[in-house]
Amino acid sequence: MKERITEKEHLHPGLEIFCGPMFSGKSSQLITELRRAPHAGLKVIAFTPAVDDRREKNTINSDDGAQYPAVTVHNSSEILDLVSPEHDIVGIDEGNFFDMGLTDICRELVLRGKRVIVAGLDKDFRGEPFGPMAVLKQEAEDVHSMHAFCNVCHREASFTQRIKIIDGKRIPANYDDPLILVGAESDYEARCRQHHEVPGRPGKNKS
Ligand SMILES: [Zn+2]
Repeated sequence: MKERITEKEHLHPGLEIFCGPMFSGKSSQLITELRRAPHAGLKVIAFTPAVDDRREKNTINSDDGAQYPAVTVHNSSEILDLVSPEHDIVGIDEGNFFDMGLTDICRELVLRGKRVIVAGLDKDFRGEPFGPMAVLKQEAEDVHSMHAFCNVCHREASFTQRIKIIDGKRIPANYDDPLILVGAESDYEARCRQHHEVPGRPGKNKS
């Protein structure tokens, strides 16, 4: 006898990652996936980390202006209690700002039958692994490496360039510059490998 088709037929448990530099459309892609879910009868819950205080709380914000409601959490361990059996899809934005425990949480959610979708920067401005993203990529069923366009040559960009602005001049931030630069503003650009500059980076002048 043919099994009755249920709405959950469209649910594929697993871990899916959207990663790349800034301005590569990761959050936008995450929002697109979360918005599609109700059309397949799937229920969504989304999370964003509290450390990201650059933007409005309780929403995922993409560079192109799209927004999606999200629960702001301070630690990955808060997520498990907030996901109920009725949730099918768990969206997590800014995965790079989470603690390393996020991988265990994602694994547990997938074992509970959820589809978990994480967006985040895989490299920090130094070009080094950012938070739990590298381990999440290794754990994931699906990894989408996204690209932006290099601010210098407009070719594909995989790196995030930190810029400090001093007296109106835009110069590459040093490897060891603190997060808050006294007397300077910080800005970010997408760059290709050739144009990604990290003065003071151990062993290299450039990436
Ligand atoms: Zn370039």
